[in-house]
Amino acid sequence: MAKTARPAPLPAEPVDADRVLAFINTLSSRPTAAPVEHLDSYEALVAWAREQHLVSAAAAERLAGEARKHPHQAAAVLARAKDFREALNGLAAAIDTERQPSADVLKTIGECLASAYANGRLVPHEGALQWVASAEDDLERVLWEIGRAAGRLVVSPRLARVRACAASDCGWWFVDDTKNRSRRWCDMTLCGNREKLRRFRSKGSK
Ligand SMILES: [Zn+2]
Repeated sequence: MAKTARPAPLPAEPVDADRVLAFINTLSSRPTAAPVEHLDSYEALVAWAREQHLVSAAAAERLAGEARKHPHQAAAVLARAKDFREALNGLAAAIDTERQPSADVLKTIGECLASAYANGRLVPHEGALQWVASAEDDLERVLWEIGRAAGRLVVSPRLARVRACAASDCGWWFVDDTKNRSRRWCDMTLCGNREKLRRFRSKGSK
């Protein structure tokens, strides 16, 4: 019997797109004149990483302690984290509008990913391998953790489904998992209803 070539089934995706998009969303209300910065200190960056389960509670505490000892270094890491975030935002915006990302965006993302893997090592994990940070308490570790998460997303077909919320004052990024790619809001109750109401009112006032 002839063997028929069958496409391999898609693996369950170990791509934490949501986490990477949550990172970009730490600057919120992007389309407005007054975007809101949630990463206003290295401590805020570590607290965010902790919430996202990128580092443990114990590691977050140790990193915050390191930051108090080395405030200039911590500030430099925060600045690099924001550069990385804005490059990821540039990538998401390019995908959403079907443009090629700029050379600068690709360069910044490439450098952050290279640094993330250069500062990682492989360990056995649940029958496979897992990247872990080579230095647990290095101030840069948060960058490496985000870098490896982003590294999985940028080479994944899931990247093509990244969209910006259509509400005029939101701009949050989300992954559109609908079959016909019709999702418009980061959250229907938060943004969808609010935007519909606003459009209804502005029609009424004309
Ligand atoms: Zn929204």
